[in-house]
Amino acid sequence: MALNLEHTPKRWKPSPLLGASALVHAGAAACVLVRPQSWPWMLGAVVANHLLLTGAGLWPRSKLLGPNWTSLPPDAARGSVALTIDDGPDPEVTPRVLDLLDEHGAKATFFCIGERVARYPELAREIIAGGHDIENHTQRHRHNFSLLGPAGMAAEIAQAQDSIQRITGTTPQFFRAPAGLRNPFLDPVLARLELRLASWTRRGFDTVTANADAVYRRLTTPLGDGDILLLHDGNAARGRGGDAVILEVLPRLLETLAQMRLRPVTLRSAL
Ligand SMILES: [Zn+2]
Repeated sequence: MALNLEHTPKRWKPSPLLGASALVHAGAAACVLVRPQSWPWMLGAVVANHLLLTGAGLWPRSKLLGPNWTSLPPDAARGSVALTIDDGPDPEVTPRVLDLLDEHGAKATFFCIGERVARYPELAREIIAGGHDIENHTQRHRHNFSLLGPAGMAAEIAQAQDSIQRITGTTPQFFRAPAGLRNPFLDPVLARLELRLASWTRRGFDTVTANADAVYRRLTTPLGDGDILLLHDGNAARGRGGDAVILEVLPRLLETLAQMRLRPVTLRSAL
């Protein structure tokens, strides 16, 4: 299997929090060596540091563990928003989403699950043919992703990268963690695979909320230049009539964007 981890590794620079955490660990170890009776204090410092790191990983929009797109960069933000659509492709929902986007001339970023791309290759190619982008949302969307070590994370991400490349001929440039949850091992893996982490400005919680009005309000209150919005074509909650909520929300959302003269663009177009 071509995991391709050795390919032109980008030099990874730890975030200030990760750098400080390394110092806390080294400092605590040195203190205990010099003054063994200080161990309870040093243990406390290390535990507090771990709580802070865990908190940062459970906060999807945090930038404490490394760079993270929570909105489009300023140069690309004016008059634009990014629709990001996660957990597909889905054979029933994705074709209808593509039709709705087409009707409005909108481009979107699909954070696809590698396994689903492999199961529905034609659908993945249809997304690309429509002028949208497919980005990396792990191979299996494991719910314990944020508990994996560096090797486990690297395998999930590299396998998805491989599936998407092989089937669509395009190389993902962005990564989004399942539910946005991560840990300090993620950032060096992303640097090695030359992927940028993207979260969102606002999310609709449309995997758990079947109420389209509530999802629409969450995404649009407020709404402005450079926002990254998150919806789901896979794992979607079902609204009235059993349809995925995105199918009810998207027409209204696209109308609102048109009225506000905000153009839906892909994340990649903002690079
Ligand atoms: Zn997801």
